[in-house]
Amino acid sequence: MDRNSFLKIAGAGLITIGSKAYGFDSGHKTKFKKLVILHTNDWHSRIEPFPNDNSRNSNLGGASRRAFLIDKIRKEEENVLLLDAGDVFQGTPYFNYFGGGLEFKLMSEMGYDAATMGNHDFDGGMDGFLKALKNAEFDFITTNYDFSNTILDGKTKEYTIIEKDGLKIGILSANIELNGLVPKKIFKETGYLDPLETSLRVSEKLKLEDKCDFIICLSHLGYKYDGDKISDIKLAQQSQYIDLIAGGHTHTFMNKADIVKNKKDQDVIVTQAGWGGILLGRVDLMFDRQKRFLWSDSEFIK
Ligand SMILES: [Zn+2]
Repeated sequence: MDRNSFLKIAGAGLITIGSKAYGFDSGHKTKFKKLVILHTNDWHSRIEPFPNDNSRNSNLGGASRRAFLIDKIRKEEENVLLLDAGDVFQGTPYFNYFGGGLEFKLMSEMGYDAATMGNHDFDGGMDGFLKALKNAEFDFITTNYDFSNTILDGKTKEYTIIEKDGLKIGILSANIELNGLVPKKIFKETGYLDPLETSLRVSEKLKLEDKCDFIICLSHLGYKYDGDKISDIKLAQQSQYIDLIAGGHTHTFMNKADIVKNKKDQDVIVTQAGWGGILLGRVDLMFDRQKRFLWSDSEFIK
């Protein structure tokens, strides 16, 4: 259900929301629970804003601007989750010089809750990632990379569950096939599990066993492709328990997050925030007191 249909039902008196409920802000927290998802992807070591060169991205992005925006939203909203969908590394000399530790340090300071790995996060080698990881005070979720025969064994999680205001939010990931994108000598013995199969299995577990109220998949598969290749859109259509896919890899800019119907004809939110840290993706989610998801709204903040 989108916000407008929700308001229509609310207006028809089917849901009691009080006289000032249309803002759905802090005054109504007794009746509703609000969760704000902030997401980034493919920020590609853009520590500084894009240069002031009169191009389209001139002066946009930069870690300090993002930190400011996140801080502002955290002051306005009680329940915020901050997520990244991969390809933090590669793109500026900061990565070549510091090897990614600086990016993770800044993300830790911004209070990221979880991230997943993109293909470029292997660019410093497995040992380079491991070294940089010491600066990451947040979880890396890699549901379909099998690191058990590598030095990253035990350093990332298959999934995580985060609680906010009594809401249980399950987070898994869908990672891209490395073969063909990253030299084998770099990803070494990393096993690749089928992202559709793992996403379906783990989201089902999060929903039915762990009783999560909302399930997020951090995806580095890419938004959409011609042909059969698995993408965020295909994953959404074939899923049953995933509520939101925050994606990356294809550097897709959107005006609004997509709403895609899953196998059970339920809504899945599919979103991606371009690249380079130009945009901060924001999805607002409203739940009722029984923790049932009611509506969402999205925007991309410059
Ligand atoms: Zn990528």
